[in-house]
Amino acid sequence: MAELSQILKQATGVVAARGEGVVLFDEDDRRYLDFTAGIGVTSTGHCHPRVVAAAQEQVGKIIHAQYTTVMHRPLLDLVERLGDVLPRNLDRMFFANSGSEAVEAALRLSRQATGRPNVIVFHGGFHGRTVAAASMTTSGTKFRSGFSPLMAGVHVSPFPDPGHFGWPVEQATDFALSQLDYVLQTLSTPADTAAFVVEPVLGEGGYVPANERFFAGLRERADEYGILLVVDEVQTGFGRTGKFWGGDHFGSQPDILITAKGLASGFPLSGIAASSELMEKAWPGSQGGTYGANAVACAAALATLDVIQDEGLVRNSAERGAQLKQALQLVADKHEQITDVRGLGLMIGNEFRDADGRPDPITAAAVQQEAARRGLLLLTCGAWSQVVRFIPALVVSPDEIDEAANIWSDAVTAITS
Ligand code: PMP
Repeated sequence: MAELSQILKQATGVVAARGEGVVLFDEDDRRYLDFTAGIGVTSTGHCHPRVVAAAQEQVGKIIHAQYTTVMHRPLLDLVERLGDVLPRNLDRMFFANSGSEAVEAALRLSRQATGRPNVIVFHGGFHGRTVAAASMTTSGTKFRSGFSPLMAGVHVSPFPDPGHFGWPVEQATDFALSQLDYVLQTLSTPADTAAFVVEPVLGEGGYVPANERFFAGLRERADEYGILLVVDEVQTGFGRTGKFWGGDHFGSQPDILITAKGLASGFPLSGIAASSELMEKAWPGSQGGTYGANAVACAAALATLDVIQDEGLVRNSAERGAQLKQALQLVADKHEQITDVRGLGLMIGNEFRDADGRPDPITAAAVQQEAARRGLLLLTCGAWSQVVRFIPALVVSPDEIDEAANIWSDAVTAITS
């Protein structure tokens, strides 16, 4: 029998025994600052008492009722509460369990509603690992390789990524929009294009924010050609970027919004939101699933929304994000291997490059491992895994930010000096 660590490959080697807020303890009771938050999921912190209480109470009432068979109170309440935070015109929802399923639901709805086969995605985007979602994922070949042939009908256009092109953001945006027009002219005519599918901030692709002019350009073309604008807020939603939705930074007006991760503090729950008019174009019975909108997950989501609101977590994300970014920039200023510190709110990436300006995943991984040894858990992202990302729970305190930044500084110094 192989070593467990080989069977279950993981980034940190930590076996979590319990967690509280931003802190995780392993089975030997060693304390870690968890700046991974289950890949941006446990935004209210580990085991927030109100989330725990809501879930525990719900477990004793009803666990599973299957909402297309029998409705349950947590779902009815959740739909109402989500109405307060969703764009006003997106008044209908469909629920599933994972981000990938929700992406597929958005794709299914887009194709059925428009009667068009193709989608256009943006290079560096991550949308999941199921066949359709992997087909729309261009943040790294590892998510696609060995899984072909993938789904047909996906075309890729550039994302406005200044760092990748080595251009100012204006130029990268001009290029991205003109290439989108070129794709519509040469690869997928508007009459064949159901949707644009885009992340407000490239997540797995390296923590690269989009911008207002790019989102305005997408909306303009969507309106002109009857193409749906699908915004994947799986990683950027629920306050992660310092606004409730990542797209709020850019005046995003989605036709379909996809959410998951931060929605239920770690219970599996995802969903799409769209207008009633659009949802009614879905073919009857084609969206569904056994476990979607599980009653315990919905109760946890309701408590999550309460905590986000009552504890001012969106504002905390913006403020602690600014504090963290400044501290990380100070470290980058002292180490030329870190060529960029970027992101929005508590979604911050550190880009590692070698002396020739090439992506440097080896140093990124070494620093990540060194930080873990020193008690700070981090993840990498980016096409080459050359970015070390910070995504703590939104409850993180000023002191925890300082502590993490100090560990980071020491880890970077230990590896690069
Ligand atoms: N979309 C985005 C933007 C994501 O970040 C992710 C997960 N990292 C997904 C979709 C897929 O979500 P899941 O892993 O829950 O299927």
